[in-house]
Amino acid sequence: MSTLPTDGSVRPMTRWGTDVMHHVNQPVTEFGEELHTLVADMVATMNAAEGVGLAANQVGVDLQVFVFNCPDKNGVYQSGVVCNPVLELPEGKDRQLDEGDEGCLSLPGAFTKCARPDFARVTGVDENGEPVSYEGDGLLARCLQHETDHTQGMVFGDRLSRKYKKRLFAEAEEFAADYPDDWPVSPMLNQDEHDHSDEGLNA
Ligand SMILES: [Zn+2]
Repeated sequence: MSTLPTDGSVRPMTRWGTDVMHHVNQPVTEFGEELHTLVADMVATMNAAEGVGLAANQVGVDLQVFVFNCPDKNGVYQSGVVCNPVLELPEGKDRQLDEGDEGCLSLPGAFTKCARPDFARVTGVDENGEPVSYEGDGLLARCLQHETDHTQGMVFGDRLSRKYKKRLFAEAEEFAADYPDDWPVSPMLNQDEHDHSDEGLNA
């Protein structure tokens, strides 16, 4: 069951290359109306872009907060808001890598394999400053890692080999014209060519 707000406005998606995507964002210290509006707008933007997660810097805001609504390996959805996330990953013999496909709403249209641990736990606080903890496997594990990375100024391209990164940028270039500058405020063009439902993470 989702407790995410439903009254937000869609904001334009910030792209890779914009400064706020590539440095460690500011911790959240104020849990008032401004944060609540931001969180609601992030949820609206994530949904408009058909993503399963979104960080604040993806709408141009320099704050460590993300929202998600994402299924685990069994198709069970978890959703939430995490400010100041701290990631815990399995170590030693519990550490298994998942080679699933990954894409980023801030580099829309491009997907590639990205090896990550197949289980993750994130702790932090919600938009009211209350402690939260989420954990899981499958796409959810990938999503929690991808979003925490965003709050730390890292994009998944930073985790790829040169070869995969080059291929990823080539694919993004191919579809760039289909995404207006203010997407997803304005819808994408040629929508029928962009069914990413089987392509892995889109966040
Ligand atoms: Zn992303």
